[in-house]
Amino acid sequence: MIFLDRFRNYCLEIVREMDSRFTHSIPTLRCSNGKSENERKNGDEERISKYSFVSPLCMSGGDGYNSYSTNSLLQRRVLSKAKPVLVKNTKELMINLNFPTYIKVADLGCSSGQNTFLAMSEIINTINVLCQQRNQNPPEIDCCLNDLPNNDFNTTFKFIKFFNEKNITSKESYFVSGVPGSFYSRLFPRGSLHFVHSSYGLHWLSKVPEGLEKSKMSVYITNSSPLSTYKAYLNQFERDFATFLKLRSEEMVSNGRMVLTFIGRNTIDNPLHRDCCHFWTLLSKSLRDLVVEGLVSASKVDSFYIPFYDPNEKEIKEMVQKEGSFEIRDLETHGYDLRHCNQDESKRSKSGQNEANYIRAVSEPLLVAHFGDAIINILFNKFACHVSQHASCKNKTTVSIVVSLTKKKLSSCPKV
Ligand code: SAH
Repeated sequence: MIFLDRFRNYCLEIVREMDSRFTHSIPTLRCSNGKSENERKNGDEERISKYSFVSPLCMSGGDGYNSYSTNSLLQRRVLSKAKPVLVKNTKELMINLNFPTYIKVADLGCSSGQNTFLAMSEIINTINVLCQQRNQNPPEIDCCLNDLPNNDFNTTFKFIKFFNEKNITSKESYFVSGVPGSFYSRLFPRGSLHFVHSSYGLHWLSKVPEGLEKSKMSVYITNSSPLSTYKAYLNQFERDFATFLKLRSEEMVSNGRMVLTFIGRNTIDNPLHRDCCHFWTLLSKSLRDLVVEGLVSASKVDSFYIPFYDPNEKEIKEMVQKEGSFEIRDLETHGYDLRHCNQDESKRSKSGQNEANYIRAVSEPLLVAHFGDAIINILFNKFACHVSQHASCKNKTTVSIVVSLTKKKLSSCPKV
C-alpha cells in the first residue's frame, strides 16, 4: 500500500513537472472558473461549471476507421452550404466595427478533425480579402476552438498544419487556442468575443429531458410517442438555447455576430412526426433487434434517450425573440440527406455501412456509457441493414437550419 502511494506521488510529481514545462506550448488550452454572471450573482449552490459537465457526450476521437474525423463528410457539406451566410456576416462585422485591429472568433462544438478548421479558414480568408479590397490592415485574429473536455483536442490540433497551409497569406495574423468546456456555461471573459460560429453542436442538449415517460424502446421522439415526450424535449431545448444565448450575449461585444447551424425539422403540423428512415428511428429498431436476440434487456433500452432535439425555424425564431439579446439577420433551411454523403451509392450495402459509420461516430461514446462496448459492432451491423432496407425512402422531416444573429446594443438588451 505504502509503495503504491509513493508510486502515485512520484507519477503526480512527473505530471506536475511536465505541466509546468509545457504550459507555453501552442496551441494552448485555456481555463477559467467558467461561471456565468448570473450564476455568480445568484450564489446558486448547484453551479454549472464548464468542467462539471459529466455527460459522456462526445464524438468518437482519433482519425481511425470509426472516428468522427473520418466520418464527418455530411458536416463538411453542411458547412459548405452555410458558407454564404458565414462570409456575408463576417464582412458585415468587419465593416460595422470599422476594421478593428484585433478580433476574437470562437468555434463552439468544434469536435475533432479537419472540419474544425473549415469555418475558421473561411472567416480568416474573408477578412483578409476584404481588408485587401478596402485597403485596410488585416486584424490579428484570436481563433478559439471550443468543445467539451472529453473531446479529442489532440486530433484537432494535429490537423493544424492543413489550416496553416490554407492560410499561408496570413501566417502571422492568427493565433489558435483550445477552450475546453460546455457552451451552456461561461467560456470567455465579458465583452470579449466578436464572432461566434457553431455548426451541428446546438441540437445536442445539456442533458436528457426530465419527466419523459418510459420510451417503449425508442431512443428519441417517434410517431407513436406521447405528446408529453415532445414537450419535454422542446422545454429542455428552449432552456438550453436560452442559456446559450444569454451567456454568449455576456461574452460578446455589441454588434458582434453569430452564425449557428442546427439539425432541424421541417415545420409540419405534427411535432411527433419523424421519417421511418430517420437515423434515431433506425437506431431504435437496431436496439430492438438486440433485445429480440437476448443481447440487451428491454428495460435497458427503455431507459435510454438521446439528448438531442431538432427544432424547426419557427421555434428558433420565437426563442431568439423571447430571450431578447440578439436580432436575427438570416434564417435559412437547407436539405439534409445522409445518403448523399455516401461515396459509393451504387452499392446498397456499402451505403448502409456508410450511414452506420456516420451515426456510430456521433453516438458511440453515449451508447457505450449506457450499454457497454460489447454490443457496438453488432448494433451498427444491424443499423447498416436497416438503412439498406430504407434505401428508397426520401427524408422529409430532417433539414439543416442556419441562423445568423447580431448582438444588440447594451441599452436594448435584457438585464443580466
Ligand atoms: N462543428 C463540427 C462538429 C460537429 S459535432 C463540425 O461541423 O464538424 C458536434 C460537436 O459539438 C461535438 O464535438 C460535441 O462534443 C460538441 N458539443 C455538444 N454539446 C456541447 C456543449 N454543451 N459544449 C461544447 N461542445 C458541445
